[in-house]
Amino acid sequence: MPPDPAVMPGYQFASDNTAGACPEALAAFVEANAAAVPSYGNDRYTAEVSDRLRELFETPCEVFFVFNGTAANSLAVSACCRPYHSVICSDMAHLETDECGGPEFFSGGSKILLAASHQGKLDPAAIEELATHRSDIHYPKPRLVSLTLPTELGTLYTLEELDELGRLAKRLGLRVHVDGARFANAVAALGATPAEIVRRGQVDVLCLGGTKIGLPVGEAVIFFDCDLAGEFAYRCKQAGQLASKMRFLTAPWLGMLSSDAWLRHAAHANAMAGRLAAGFAAIPEVELPYPTQANAVFAALPRAIHQRLQARGWHYYTFIGQGAARFMCSWATTETDVDALLGDARGE
Ligand SMILES: *Cc1c(COP(=O)(O)O)cnc(C)c1O
Repeated sequence: MPPDPAVMPGYQFASDNTAGACPEALAAFVEANAAAVPSYGNDRYTAEVSDRLRELFETPCEVFFVFNGTAANSLAVSACCRPYHSVICSDMAHLETDECGGPEFFSGGSKILLAASHQGKLDPAAIEELATHRSDIHYPKPRLVSLTLPTELGTLYTLEELDELGRLAKRLGLRVHVDGARFANAVAALGATPAEIVRRGQVDVLCLGGTKIGLPVGEAVIFFDCDLAGEFAYRCKQAGQLASKMRFLTAPWLGMLSSDAWLRHAAHANAMAGRLAAGFAAIPEVELPYPTQANAVFAALPRAIHQRLQARGWHYYTFIGQGAARFMCSWATTETDVDALLGDARGE
């Protein structure tokens, strides 16, 4: 029997992928179920959402849909890199720590070079050092810089920082990949348009997250440098990422993008994280090691509070960041959830 949610407060803060699909995505999913349509992406939903994304990013980009973020990142890297190339990313990057070597595997051996990061954000000086300290034939040729927005530690690059990284990458001859598993939360928090964020960072390929922002499943891979997208459809197919009933990956995006539901939900998740962070900050024994800038809250909890939260059935990750507990908020997190967690943390 599944745990009774009334008894087990549970999983709403463990990850933003513990939430269900949001109503707008679900309604579009159900609507797309009504009639027979062409398979493998030759359907009108897929065409329409691809056009919507081109409008959103204000450029004729190439758009693909895959089942998850590991595939999106791994295949995006493989499209940018030959086997003798290297990818510069932060030591906290999902690409490095959580993809089981997928980017190396799908690129046929491209090496990942780890750059120092501060609060999850890449240090430009570290990128430059990695990209320039060797230029001989014996070293894997730096080709791509990958940044995560928002970062794995829930922080955000500012638009000025994106400018700097974009300019630096192009000066060094590097392509720019963005892991945007939670890109919507960044857009909502930065108050800039998706197109502006991409322009500032001079992004060549964006993995646009769907699952964590309220889709049932699926991510988009968007190439702003269309030359990189050549034969990408074959990579997706070979990797087992071409959905035969593609409409179920794509139609929910239509629901999300209409009337800006994706940004409304992302702003809500960010606001819930803000409420939670403020509540934790008011508890004297709790430290917040990173600023809460999107929908993640990291809190260093004293053992007594951690044990109490565990005993009361709350789930959250403790393996991301140094010694802190991570609480993720989603489109589905309510003020009641946040206040219940905080009440339990305070021992009420
Ligand atoms: C969740 C996540 C992904 C995607 O992970 P999958 O489990 O493969 O869908 C990618 N990048 C970041 C930063 C993530 O948090």
